Amino acid sequence: MTINPKNMAPRSCLIGAEWVGADSGETIEVRDPATDELVASVPGCAAAETRRAIDAAAKALPKWRSRTAQERTRPLRRLYELMMRDRERLALLMTREQGKPLAEARGEIAYAASFIEWAAEEAKRIYGLTVPASSPDKRILVLRQPVGVCAAITPWNFPAAMITRKLGPALAAGCAMVVKPAEQTPLSALALGELALEAEFPPGVVNIVTGDAKAIAGAFFDDPRVRKLSFTGSTEVGRSLMKSASDHVMRLSLELGGHAPLIVFDDADLEAAAAGAVANKMRNMGQTCICANRILVQRGVYDEFVGLMQRRMERMKVGAGSEQGVEVGPLIDDDAVEKVKAHVADALDKGATVRTGGGLVKPHKGLANRFYAPTIIEGITSDMRIWREETFGPVAPVRAFDTEDEAIKLANDSIYGLAAYFYTRDASRLMRVAEALEYGVIGANDAAPSTAQAPFGGVKQSGVGREGGRWGVEEYTELKFVSWGGVSK
Ligand code: ADP
Repeated sequence: MTINPKNMAPRSCLIGAEWVGADSGETIEVRDPATDELVASVPGCAAAETRRAIDAAAKALPKWRSRTAQERTRPLRRLYELMMRDRERLALLMTREQGKPLAEARGEIAYAASFIEWAAEEAKRIYGLTVPASSPDKRILVLRQPVGVCAAITPWNFPAAMITRKLGPALAAGCAMVVKPAEQTPLSALALGELALEAEFPPGVVNIVTGDAKAIAGAFFDDPRVRKLSFTGSTEVGRSLMKSASDHVMRLSLELGGHAPLIVFDDADLEAAAAGAVANKMRNMGQTCICANRILVQRGVYDEFVGLMQRRMERMKVGAGSEQGVEVGPLIDDDAVEKVKAHVADALDKGATVRTGGGLVKPHKGLANRFYAPTIIEGITSDMRIWREETFGPVAPVRAFDTEDEAIKLANDSIYGLAAYFYTRDASRLMRVAEALEYGVIGANDAAPSTAQAPFGGVKQSGVGREGGRWGVEEYTELKFVSWGGVSK
């Protein structure tokens, strides 16, 4: 299918009710990772434009926060419906700028919309509390109020969902937001901005600024009106944002890197485990923070399980995401390719072996050199980079273990603590292992746990805060304690 990106998304930033370019006239090129074709150019904004977006949000905030919950629900509900109405267009656009297979892009749009739908419903359930006082003369009220103007910085791997799971809860709580999408994937963000206007959010409640990450983030940190930053991206950038946020003691939610273990015990349903492991590993070409990066298999079922995985991975069709039946698209850019190559080379140097894949493939002429074959490597040891660092590619490192204790120890041997998975049919083991894993999200016989109603987020260096469910909305509220005296006659 040929995709004509013309008119599929605005090429300007949304500040208040205006679509604007950068003051400098600078632009950023968006290229299709499958072909290197120029898809569009978007504004290369910096601090001044960001300050105007914060002005617009601060201006819109008082009216928006004083709306009733029911009134805030209406445009949220409408935005959900518009995203589903335009699902195909948004999916095509996402595949074009990000590379993921079209079927995955369609799935992401529905997933992204589900956060807006959930937020529309949850807006009506942001409850406070009354607490028994210790004096008959007093009443204690606990109010939940919106944080205020919030900023979001989002990554390229889920160009729509990483925005909506911040934007939906923020708007439900009565906050206004300025979003800075990743430079690789601004078009999905701008398309969402356009739909937000069509959904009749008041101008200024949703603002989208594309451009220089450091300059835009700097403007957020310099402005005490910005009360919270929600960031999804690398642990390295997250650490530096944490330092900058300290100047104004800005609230932070950070969803950072992961290095998920996936454990297969010898009592597992091996077919289900192999299907789950491959789907999880290969989603978005392995470029998600919850992809299984360390597959641990109990020795008695090792050969059978790895064989099942291998058969599934060798059947996967590699090609441009827009082509029929493709399950594995290109990596996002050349740096990503170099990182995958370096991790595999380091592992092979230290004694690992390739079971399948192990290098770039060229599905056909006219495509860029960014298609990495679905790969399994074996003989993994703890001194390898692939054991310690996120690879962000379609490479499954597999390691054998003997006992449950050993598996838990290996699984917890990481600075990260985002998602972990395991397969077992033993109910006692299921609870024991779920409790022992030092991770924020556990998939027990489930390799696809993410969903709008559950709290998603990490422990250790995987982040701070949770997104999803009522917890995701609470992140955009402040508690206020009102002590009400003089009640007795
Ligand atoms: P990834 O490795 O997924 O690209 P990054 O952490 O580099 O993760 O990027 C995630 C988001 O953070 C993107 O929107 C990017 O533009 C932004 N970003 C990158 N570096 C900085 C920085 N120094 N300050 C603020 N934002 C940044």
